[in-house]
Amino acid sequence: MTVLLQVDGLKKQFGGLMAVNDLSFTVAEGEILALLGPNGSGKTTVMNLISGALPATAGRIQLDGVQISGLPAHRIARLGVARTFQLVRILPSLTVAENVIAALAFRAQPLWGDDAARAAEALLAEVGLAGRGGEYAADLTYIDQKRMELARALGAAPKLLLLDEWLSGLNPTELRVGIALILSLKARGMTIMLVEHIMEAVRALCPRTVVMNAGRKIADGPTNDVLADPAVVAAYLGG
Ligand code: ADP
Repeated sequence: MTVLLQVDGLKKQFGGLMAVNDLSFTVAEGEILALLGPNGSGKTTVMNLISGALPATAGRIQLDGVQISGLPAHRIARLGVARTFQLVRILPSLTVAENVIAALAFRAQPLWGDDAARAAEALLAEVGLAGRGGEYAADLTYIDQKRMELARALGAAPKLLLLDEWLSGLNPTELRVGIALILSLKARGMTIMLVEHIMEAVRALCPRTVVMNAGRKIADGPTNDVLADPAVVAAYLGG
C-alpha cells in the first residue's frame, strides 16, 4: 500500500473553538475514503485544510511525500489536489467546454488552445457530457452541472480528488448514475476522499471510513464495522 495523503496532528482553531483537533489519518493511492461525522464535527474544515482554502493552526499534511500544509491553495492544486464544492460553483455565462477549459489552467502542465479543447472534450465524455460542450453552463440540469463540476476538478489532473457532498440533491436514479461515475474514476485509479451524508452511497463507494466528532477522529476502519461502532452511533444521536 502506497500512502498518498498523510495527515498528522492536524488542528484548526476558530477563536475559542477547536474545529479540528489532533486529527491524523492516511489515504492510500487508489483508495476511496469516506469522512463522516455529525453536523459541525469538522469535515468541511478538513477538506478546506487539505485544499489550502484555510491555513492549519498546527499539524502537517503531506501529499505523495511532499508537505502541502502551509502552501497557498493554487500551489496545492498544482501539486495534485482538486475538489468539488457542496454548492456547485460554475461560470454560468460560459459554455460547458469553456468552464472545463478554464480549469485546465490549474494543471501542473497547463493546457491551452486546441490541446485544451481536446482535453475538455475527453473530460466531458468521461463524466457523461459527450458532445455537450457548446451548451451554456447556466442551462444545464442540476446533475449535469455536477457532472461538469467533476470534469473541472478532473481537468486539473489531480492525484487526490476531494468530493464535498457531490451526490447530495440527486434523485434516486441520478444517485445511481453518480455512484457509477465515481466508481468508474476509482476503476482508473483515482484516489478520492469524500464527505457524504447519503449512507447508501458511502456503503457502495467506500471500503473504509473515518468518523469525526467535535473535531476529533472517533473511528477509522472498514465502513461496515465503523457504522456499527457504538461510539459512532452515539455521536450521530448526539450522545
Ligand atoms: P462539518 O463539515 O462536519 O459540518 P465544519 O467543518 O463545517 O463541520 O465546522 C466545524 C465547526 O467549525 C463548526 O462548529 C463550525 O461552526 C465551525 N466553523 C467552520 N468554519 C468556521 C469559520 N470560518 N469560522 C468560525 N467557525 C467555523
